[in-house]
Amino acid sequence: MPTSFLCTACGTGYPPAEARPKHCPICEDERQFVPPPGQGWTSFGAMRDGHRAVVAYDGKFLGLGMTPHFAIGQRALLVRTPAGNILWDLIPLVDRGIVDIIDGLGGLAAIAISHPHYYTTMAEWSEAFGGIPVLTHAADKAWIQRPGDHVALWDGERREILPGLTLIRCGGHFAGGTVLHVADAHDGKGALLSGDILQVTPGCDGLGFMRSYPNYIPLGETAVRRIAGALDGVTFDAVYGAFWGRVVPADGRAVLAQSVERHIRWLSEDDDI
Ligand SMILES: [Zn+2]
Ligand SMILES: [Zn+2]
Repeated sequence: MPTSFLCTACGTGYPPAEARPKHCPICEDERQFVPPPGQGWTSFGAMRDGHRAVVAYDGKFLGLGMTPHFAIGQRALLVRTPAGNILWDLIPLVDRGIVDIIDGLGGLAAIAISHPHYYTTMAEWSEAFGGIPVLTHAADKAWIQRPGDHVALWDGERREILPGLTLIRCGGHFAGGTVLHVADAHDGKGALLSGDILQVTPGCDGLGFMRSYPNYIPLGETAVRRIAGALDGVTFDAVYGAFWGRVVPADGRAVLAQSVERHIRWLSEDDDI
């Protein structure tokens, strides 16, 4: 009986197979890491049976997480609009309870994912909602470990997926690194759902731009300026990062400008100060 294996370090799901994968390319990439004891594996069923959903508002969006901690530990965000709902980024867990909650709030039109670290169980998520598309940027196609009909690649720089919901490719952390702009959020002032393309700092008063967060590899000036340029003309007040409570609640544009300036200044700062 084929098993859907998941990497326990990053949560990436692999196509059903008799034997566990030999490698996790996501973890072996310099942006993630293989834990010192070696790559660990579980099955989708065992992960699901050993965890339960955590559902709570995080700012103004419904957040979805799981407990106990598993893999990277991100939370997803449900974006509700009159034209339909979008789930932004994914957690590994999808079960009957999560499906019932989301269906009770109007279901899902699509899933959109910021970058390959959150692709995780996108095949199971799509299937749980009747085969809905999972939007990922074509520039990161090579990182998809479980291809299939659920994958809806998009390319270019911006894509409006529903009225007022626009995917914006910023690049940086990954070539296809994408944020979701929600124009009507925060009383019409707008919100950016940034995954870790723009990483919200622990104090919720800054943004970080790294090629690798766990391995402390910063992005260079060109990449950081490109991220800022991709957001030119985009109106937003709040920035929602990839983890619970990592939300810049207001003045997001000013926080972005200050964070870009600080990052670039430190890349070239004299060490002897
Ligand atoms: Zn992995
Ligand atoms: Zn990442």
